[in-house]
Amino acid sequence: MSFNSLIVRKDDEGKTSAAIENITIDRLPEGNVTVAVEYSTVNYKDGLCLGSGGGMVRNYPHIPGIDMAGVVEASDDPRYKAGDRVVLTGWRYGEVHWGGYSQKTRVNADWLVGLPDGISTKQAMAVGTAGITAMFSVMSLEAHGLTPDNGPVLVTGAAGGVGSVASAILSNIGYEVAGVTGRPESEAYLKSLGVSQIVAREDINETVKRPLESETWAGCIDAVGGAMLARVLGQMKYGASIASVGLAGGAGLPATVIPFLLRGINLLGIDSVLRPYDNRVEAWSRIESELPFDKLESMIVNAKLEDLPKLGKDILKGQVQGRVVVDVNA
Ligand code: NDP
Repeated sequence: MSFNSLIVRKDDEGKTSAAIENITIDRLPEGNVTVAVEYSTVNYKDGLCLGSGGGMVRNYPHIPGIDMAGVVEASDDPRYKAGDRVVLTGWRYGEVHWGGYSQKTRVNADWLVGLPDGISTKQAMAVGTAGITAMFSVMSLEAHGLTPDNGPVLVTGAAGGVGSVASAILSNIGYEVAGVTGRPESEAYLKSLGVSQIVAREDINETVKRPLESETWAGCIDAVGGAMLARVLGQMKYGASIASVGLAGGAGLPATVIPFLLRGINLLGIDSVLRPYDNRVEAWSRIESELPFDKLESMIVNAKLEDLPKLGKDILKGQVQGRVVVDVNA
């Protein structure tokens, strides 16, 4: 039985190109669980892996797609049986290993998490790596003392994948949310997710001479990094924490240590790739109960395998709003 996969090939001159190919199951890499993929999604890393590889893809031909949700077809691992609904994020799936832009995938059982009953495979990919990373960020901020009583929480890159899900979760569990966006046309969308204060990107994406400004934010989920993160450090309330998630605005951090020394600010690193299993199970369980799924629907942009090369370029330019859900069987 053959099936469709989106395969990236590299030519002799090092140029990559992506196309749908019909392949057979013996082409899939080794693994102890075979999954019939239903949905995948588009993350920033997928944009890189669909194009140049961004230094992450080691071997070609390659199937990108850093996450997927589907139904187990065959399993040699006692934890999973045919018919189980599963989700996979992280573990360098879609980077070093062949990923989810395929109607079938073969993976290591350790990478899988069983989906909670209240989350469909489509919803799981509307959440995707971006959404579970947003939940990891909320969990980390709370573990460092954040509660809704502390004051407003800033979300940067608010109209993107991490930012949209973070905003919806935070507002749903009682936080006042301020969202930074560079797209004024996203204001209505962000308000519908529960963002009560919109901060224009140009008001906050440059460093200033003063290392400390007024104490404004009780917490921050930062998907942007760079000068914006440096500026936000100086605007945090005493003892507050920032979850550092992404680098959409740059990998540098042109900051001083003054906010750490004089205000006891914490900068929390958030990694979603190598998170322990128990932590993933907790995050999916909290997503089931704390993410407003009606709001998740409004974030979804539906796509097919054939749309991926263009969507990969769009996400690298910061032009994707919310969460793209790829129906690999459409
Ligand atoms: P998206 O592209 O969906 O969102 C990023 C958002 O950042 C954009 O929508 C835009 O928001 C804003 N943005 C884009 N370019 C700039 C810029 N030059 N300056 C300021 N803001 C900008 O990506 P994701 O939400 O999926 O991912 C966000 C980041 O998090 C990425 O860097 C990604 O690699 C990282 N990430 C990290 C993970 C981890 O494990 N640590 C896991 C998942 C993602 P707006 O239009 O509202 O301004």
